[in-house]
This record gives sequence, structure tokens and C-alpha cells, in this order.
Amino acid sequence: MAVPYQDYYEILGVSRDATEKEIKAAYRKLARKWHPDLHTGKMKQEAEEKFKQINEAYEVLSDPEKRAKYDRLGSSWRAGQDFEPPPGTDVHFYATGDFESGFRSGFSDFFELLFGRGTRFGRTASAWGPRRGQDVESEIELNLEEAYRGTVKTVQISSGTVCPECGGAGLSGRSFCAQCGGTGTLPDTRTLEVKIPPGIQEGSRIRLKGQGGEGLGGGPRGDLYLKVRLLPHPVFTVKGSDLETEIVLTPEQAVLGDKVTVSTLDGPVTVTVPAGSRAGTKLRLRGKGLPGKDGARGDQFVRVIIDIPASLSEQERRLYRQLKELREKA
Ligand SMILES: [Zn+2]
Repeated sequence: MAVPYQDYYEILGVSRDATEKEIKAAYRKLARKWHPDLHTGKMKQEAEEKFKQINEAYEVLSDPEKRAKYDRLGSSWRAGQDFEPPPGTDVHFYATGDFESGFRSGFSDFFELLFGRGTRFGRTASAWGPRRGQDVESEIELNLEEAYRGTVKTVQISSGTVCPECGGAGLSGRSFCAQCGGTGTLPDTRTLEVKIPPGIQEGSRIRLKGQGGEGLGGGPRGDLYLKVRLLPHPVFTVKGSDLETEIVLTPEQAVLGDKVTVSTLDGPVTVTVPAGSRAGTKLRLRGKGLPGKDGARGDQFVRVIIDIPASLSEQERRLYRQLKELREKA
């Protein structure tokens, strides 16, 4: 099915290589000029039509993904020409007519053929009826103990809320909305207490229902997802569900073996170092790692480091010499 081609660059009066800034400036200028509230009588209808076109053009050209898709159609099309998507193009077609909610999107058939329905809300919000807010993703930093044991964290969330003054349009009468400065959104900071379940892993996402972007027209808020990032730990190195730590031994401990105290996530434990442990040996503490995906805990590996004493007493020196002589005779 063919629909009239829309020349979005022509509508905004910008060149095909216009920058984002130029596009935004052109949009603001035209939106101000053609805002339907500024016109009366016969002109009002024309202004409404133009205003819609301007918003549609901006919707496409201000979105890098949509713009790229639009640009791929090439520059040989003329406004109003019968357009049919080239074969193999990824297009969504939605039958025109009444939408489930009874509202039309306000976008042209061309737009809907190319991008489908259901795009960024904001300027066309009133034409959509209630819409659920966007899901938002953010990060939460936890240290290892917090992730392992679970905790409650206080987080500050900054998000945009739709400007109540202009309803997201950014315009008020003849000028930009004074409350939001024409952006259509107001900054909104909230403080939340977030419960971190024990055993959470790096990269896990915590869902906070209804803490995402604000809904429109009475629609519910979206959700907020917090992605867990583990902070580096001074003692434990995380390797998947295993942990790695180090233990420093004297040469005598390494040669003769010993019982030593090692820190684990569950507190200190006594570990037997076998006689003849070499530097780099890894002692395995089964089940002292982090909970894995299957719930079973990984292991903790304790890497042996041998520290050579920097200074020796006269007696120690004598004993080391005796040891050396013994080994040379052997
Ligand atoms: Zn506003």
C-alpha cells in the first residue's frame, strides 16, 4: 500500500546534514510560529495541520535511530509522492483507523508505515489517552558484604516528571512554558529505601515497581531497575561465585606447616597450611564463596605468599647459616 511521502527536512526547513542543535532550533522556531493556540478562524486549522507535521518531523529527526532509518530511504523522494517501502525493509504496518483506546496517534500514515505506532510520548501525549511511564535503569553500588548478607540502601533517584504547567508540550501561549523552559519536563529527585536481598550478584537487576518514568494522562508510572555493581574489596577478589584472598606466611610456616586464621565472609576460620607449601599454592575453602546462580556457594581460594624477613637477629642468622651448611652437606 502506498502512502504520501513526508519530507521531514523540508518541513523543518533544514538541510539533510543538519546537526541535532540546528534541528532543535528549527523545531522550536516553527513550533512557536504554528502553535494552534496562537491562531484563530481559518488559520487555526492550517496551524493545527502544520503543528502536527512539525512535531512528526521533529519526532523522527531528533531521534538518531529513526533519523537513520528515514535517511536510508534516500534523498530522491519528493513530498507527497506515493511511497511504498522498498522490499526487504523492516517496516511495521498498522491498519489505520481507530486505535484500541479510541485515539489516533496524530502521526501520518507514512510515519506509521515506517515506524509503527507507540513512540516517544510527550508532545502528542494528549492524543494518546493514559500511557504507562517508561522503565528506567540505574546502577546501585554495593560492597561485597552488603551483597552477600543483604541490606537496606538509601538511594536518590533523579528523573524527569512531565511539566504540570504545559502537560509536556513545552509551550504556553505565545512563548515557551516558564515553568519548564520549553523542555516539557521538570527535574524530580526522590529518596528511596531499597531492600537488597542476601546473595545478590554483580549485574543482577532489582526491580522497583512504579518508581520509573511518570505515566501520562493518568497512566501508571514505569518501573525502575537498579543494576548491581560490586565495589572492589580490599581483601576479597570476586571470580564468578568464587573468592580469592591471600595469606602471608614466614618461610618456617611454609616449610613446617601451621594452623592460621583466615577471613571469610562468614567470619574468621582456622586453616591448616600443609608442610612444604610453596608460594602461589592455593588452599581451597569449600563453600566459602558467593552464592552462584544455582544457589550453591562457590569456594574461597587462599593464595600463599611467603614473606622473607627483611632483618634477622644474630641468632636467626646463625641458625639460617647452620641450615644452609646442613643442606650443602646432604
Ligand atoms: Zn512546561
